[in-house]
Amino acid sequence: MPPKLNLTGQRFGRLLVICEGPKARPNAGSKWRCVCDCGVDVITETGALRSGHTKSCGCLHRDIMREKSTTHGQQGTPEYRAWAAMIGRCTIKSHSSYRNYGGRGISVCERWRLYEQFREDMGNRPAGSTLDRINTNGNYELENCRWATKEQQDNNKRTSVFVTFEGRTMTYSQWARELGSDPSVLRQRWIKFGTLKPIQRTKESYYAKTNRTNQCL
Ligand SMILES: [Zn+2]
Repeated sequence: MPPKLNLTGQRFGRLLVICEGPKARPNAGSKWRCVCDCGVDVITETGALRSGHTKSCGCLHRDIMREKSTTHGQQGTPEYRAWAAMIGRCTIKSHSSYRNYGGRGISVCERWRLYEQFREDMGNRPAGSTLDRINTNGNYELENCRWATKEQQDNNKRTSVFVTFEGRTMTYSQWARELGSDPSVLRQRWIKFGTLKPIQRTKESYYAKTNRTNQCL
């Protein structure tokens, strides 16, 4: 006959076995009276303890659930997915887009390393929008990010092209603010005339640019 199992004094997770517990029937398996770290007494079966199935009075599970819900509990939300993707492409070298982000020196600001803080700054993602950087060469930080639709982003891409003019390099948007003009006007001007300053059009310059002959003059 094998020696009688005695779990007294053994610890299973948060449970410490105090003594053998009352049996439901004489032939039933042993039960153990345990005290949980939180102070609650429980009677548990041998199998549940030894298999690792029972590790507390139930407080462990509650604590885990509470932790999940207070850390944020929104792994599946659009905001969380946007955050996780941002962290991935900027910090994980094996990420398929790392080359175009982290690899180009695009980083995530210190504050946004924590999802909760990103969420607090950016708020709810409006339907149909994605996380967008206003300056596409800038970092992920509040000043440079917004939730934007595809249309807004395409528009931004055109105007966030950098232009070097009179020794300074800025985006069309930045030039537009400085010159009191519209980014798309500046873009047209730059492409057509190679300048961001207003064109003083004379008949000669007009004909020169358009390759027309001045036969009508
Ligand atoms: Zn407990």
